[in-house]
Amino acid sequence: MPGTTPRPRVFSGMQPTADSLHLGNYLGALRQWVALQDDHDAFYCVVDLHAITAGHDPDDLRRRTRAVAAQYLAAGVDPERSTLFVQSHAPEHAQLAWVLGCITGFGEASRMTQFKDKAARQGTEGATVGLFTYPVLQAADILLYQADLVPVGEDQRQHIELTRDLGGRFNSRFGEVFRLPQPHIARATAKILDLQDPTAKMSKSIGGAGLVELLDDPKRIEKRIKSAVTDTGRDVLYDPEGKPGVSNLMTILAAFTGTTVERVQDDFAGRGYGDLKKAVAEAVLATAVPLAERQRALLEDPAELDRLLARGAEKARAVAAGTLAAVYDRVGFVPA
Ligand code: ATP
Repeated sequence: MPGTTPRPRVFSGMQPTADSLHLGNYLGALRQWVALQDDHDAFYCVVDLHAITAGHDPDDLRRRTRAVAAQYLAAGVDPERSTLFVQSHAPEHAQLAWVLGCITGFGEASRMTQFKDKAARQGTEGATVGLFTYPVLQAADILLYQADLVPVGEDQRQHIELTRDLGGRFNSRFGEVFRLPQPHIARATAKILDLQDPTAKMSKSIGGAGLVELLDDPKRIEKRIKSAVTDTGRDVLYDPEGKPGVSNLMTILAAFTGTTVERVQDDFAGRGYGDLKKAVAEAVLATAVPLAERQRALLEDPAELDRLLARGAEKARAVAAGTLAAVYDRVGFVPA
């Protein structure tokens, strides 16, 4: 509309590497996405190209791609206001990743801690070149859309810094093309911890009993929360260094009930860990159960979901193609 200021642009994505998102994905990322779409021009992607970097089964990938898209919708991503699409439907992501890979230092990519952690788990032969260049593809995802903000969990901060470095390097070498994005990290829920090992972040690829999946059976969700590792103390106190397990549960409760950890601490004064866990389980299920129902209903009509994703891809490509054309021109590729 003439005279209106364009809304800031947001881009983010998740890998379809599991059937269900977990509490960390939801609180660290998806919930922020829903809030941001009100006053931002939002692009939300199911990053299936990223999901093949660590070995996968094709049928699982197909099912999970639709399942994750349905979870975005079930959580409140509105396809009328946001552009919701699948990464492989916009080939510009892989095309830009190649160009950016050619201005990324090998040493620079080797310093990415997520690669080092995942490669350590998979061994030298198990870790692929795709896993190594994962952050370069992520930079392409973000830069293609000229995003101002990238809502993610704390684990992605280093990748966003790399994105800024690569975008800035391209701009100074070849001329201004990219807007440099800022991470948007919700301080309170930036790193939800594994319930069994509260020194590690909750993660799909680690899995195990410390992971709480939103679409899991409610009884199992409850059981996992009630079996969360705490400490030998008795008081519900927020002390992330000294009491990481209890503090993590307080963070989860505060986030799901829209309050603060200080308030949780006051509410639980004189009460034990059992009471806290019960309250956490109730709060998680109050969101997870209706979300699972909405997701199931959406998956009952896969053709409609596919139509919606195709529409999203068309909108995404209209932006991505413009950025890629500018990049190709600046690097000196002869027009096709
Ligand atoms: P993996 O462990 O296989 O890398 P993941 O569980 O980290 O998977 P991603 O798809 O890589 O999931 O991440 C999707 C989004 O969820 C990202 O924005 C990421 O920062 C966020 N996220 C993931 N885990 C957590 C967590 N434990 N706490 C907060 N945010 C998280």
